[in-house]
Amino acid sequence: MAYVFTPAPIPSVAVADSADRLPVRRIFCVGRNYAAHAREMGKDPDREPPFFFSKPADAVVDSGVDIHYPPQTENFHYEAELVVAIGKDGTNIAEADALDHVWGYAVGNDLTRRDLQLAARDMGRPWDFGKAFDRSAVIGPVTSVAKAGHPSKGAIRLTVNGETRQDADLSELIWSVPEIISYLSHSIALAAGDLIMTGTPAGVGALVPGDLCIVSIDGLESIRTRIRPRI
Ligand code: MN
Repeated sequence: MAYVFTPAPIPSVAVADSADRLPVRRIFCVGRNYAAHAREMGKDPDREPPFFFSKPADAVVDSGVDIHYPPQTENFHYEAELVVAIGKDGTNIAEADALDHVWGYAVGNDLTRRDLQLAARDMGRPWDFGKAFDRSAVIGPVTSVAKAGHPSKGAIRLTVNGETRQDADLSELIWSVPEIISYLSHSIALAAGDLIMTGTPAGVGALVPGDLCIVSIDGLESIRTRIRPRI
């Protein structure tokens, strides 16, 4: 069997303290998983079931890579997030078993064309153009569970040009990592290489060309992204 053209490379993210890369299969993202962020988006943060959207696997960008301001937006936002890297397949995973499926954790930035996302939301349309565009998922080096454990508390912070814009704690997640994994695995077959972006705290805002955006989570490697002019 031959392919009719050369297949695209397998998307991957860095691994902390290693030359190895973690191959990415899919990227699932949790919407509104911090109460204060739900409120700033005009929504009630009551504990309704979690909901998800996706990004293409090849939207991943390493820390330190510059990103050009994307097309078709005038309101390009950062979102600091804890990223879970799944290392073991599973369906209908019990919460008590969920952490056994985690390979490691990373810092992420769920880049968002907010104007397109909100227009789609308000019209009951899919969020893809707001969330699933090229280079929309900055993901830092994944730290293995052996080194990072399972972070359930600790600071999550984002700065733009050195000024703090998001400053929260992982303990404020409405849906915990085991709950998210269990819930998702009852809807789709989770697979090794799936990444889960767990949602952003309050304080989301705009990036403009020239900005340097740094995201950090206690115990994980920080990520930095410089925004360049639109091409
Ligand atoms: Mn997000």
